[in-house]
Amino acid sequence: MNSEKLSKRLTAVASFVEQNATLADIGSDHAYLPCFLVKAGKISKAIAGEVVKGPYESAIKNVQKKGLTEAITVRMANGLDAIHDSDGVDTVTIAGMGGPLIASILRDGAEKLHSVKRIVTQPNIHAMSIREWAVQNGWKIVDEQILKEDHKIYEIIVLEKGQADYSELEMMVGPYLLKEKSEIFIEKWKRESDEWKRVLASLEIAGDTVEINKKREQLREKNELLGGVLTN
Ligand code: SAM
Repeated sequence: MNSEKLSKRLTAVASFVEQNATLADIGSDHAYLPCFLVKAGKISKAIAGEVVKGPYESAIKNVQKKGLTEAITVRMANGLDAIHDSDGVDTVTIAGMGGPLIASILRDGAEKLHSVKRIVTQPNIHAMSIREWAVQNGWKIVDEQILKEDHKIYEIIVLEKGQADYSELEMMVGPYLLKEKSEIFIEKWKRESDEWKRVLASLEIAGDTVEINKKREQLREKNELLGGVLTN
């Protein structure tokens, strides 16, 4: 992968960034995504934020190599601290991390989101944490995508400001993805369900503490919720 030829996963993330957006890409190892979007003529200004020195230096090097230092500012910063008020950022991308980490970056940087209109997230795991953050903080889901690359399944969740109600099942699997019910979606949730059943089977013989009973109950509930999705 490089900034001319992105992975399928990052290409999908890029497709949700709107024409002429002012972007902050948080966790921007190599700055591949902002470089690609500027080179493609989709955006002309971006911030690439990185908290770790190695990836931050890779981002600086790549932006220089591509001759994009005018368009892309690379900052070493934790989460949304990379965004300054004067940047006028209206779109944030956060890709390639766990859902809980993405949700904590959004939670910790709440005051940086005032001018932001769209957040594109690509959680590697536990996407539900992002949906939970969204409903608790005045954001709604406007689009979702699920894709498979190198045997791994990835979800993308796109948020804009607003209120929406989601069922427990929609929160778990995603309202748009549930409606679409693609083959990859079914594969993902079959895998999850099989894993829950395996854990449940080992918990059935693990004794009877309050904690084990609670875990068993949670897994049974999740499997029941999912049941209709996998059989229809
Ligand atoms: N976004 C790229 C992608 O999707 O290919 C890079 C993903 S890489 C697995 C995650 C990057 O996020 C790492 O470079 C890591 O250092 C960075 N990161 C993790 N937590 C961060 C935070 N709180 N603020 C900024 N960057 C962070």
